[in-house]
Amino acid sequence: MDFSEFNFESSLQEGLDAMGFEQPTPIQEKAIPVILKQRDLIACAQTGTGKTAAFILPVLNKISKSGKTTLNTLILAPTRELAIQIDQQIQGFAYFLGISSIPIYGGGDGIVWEQQKKALELGAEIVVATPGRLIALLAGGKMDLSTLEHLILDEADRMLDMGFSDDILKIVNYLPKNRQTILFSATMPPKIRQFSMKLLQNPEEITI
Ligand code: AMP
Repeated sequence: MDFSEFNFESSLQEGLDAMGFEQPTPIQEKAIPVILKQRDLIACAQTGTGKTAAFILPVLNKISKSGKTTLNTLILAPTRELAIQIDQQIQGFAYFLGISSIPIYGGGDGIVWEQQKKALELGAEIVVATPGRLIALLAGGKMDLSTLEHLILDEADRMLDMGFSDDILKIVNYLPKNRQTILFSATMPPKIRQFSMKLLQNPEEITI
């Protein structure tokens, strides 16, 4: 199969061409249609399978199609490194789309904190965050998540292992109930299933 079969917006297809992506990987082939049709999704996929593009591409396509410029998508990731990596992949695809994303993570110095707050004031359609730092911003009233339409949890098993479960549930309290929720995890132990039942509605399931 070819990416053209998803009928993405032409500027997203240009982004794919520029990044040298020709054919979808198996997880992309399965996950993209589910996300495009607005269903909640639980996907079991490891790093290196193309999982990041599997959730970024359909969401970018939706944002581009809607023309909305408000904060639309929140991606939660366990570590600063992963948040930066996801943000960079978004920037790569979004170059032709005029969609922006902001990485929000802990650690670093006060300058990083100030830069993150400034970037938020300027606004973006997508925020990629580690749960602890996002909680700090929400508690400080620095962020409005009421326009959110998509919540994506990446490496959910790692986030639970790192003790972020309560933080994630607190964050979800700030989000509209009527949203699409997508959960990616490298493993699918019972605790992930139980956790996902608190966040997702009637999800489709994909394993590769
Ligand atoms: P991930 O599993 O998301 O960490 O992706 C692994 C690597 O594969 C990243 O460097 C992506 O840029 C690359 N990649 C993902 N999907 C494709 C694709 N369909 N064609 C070519 N490279 C890809």
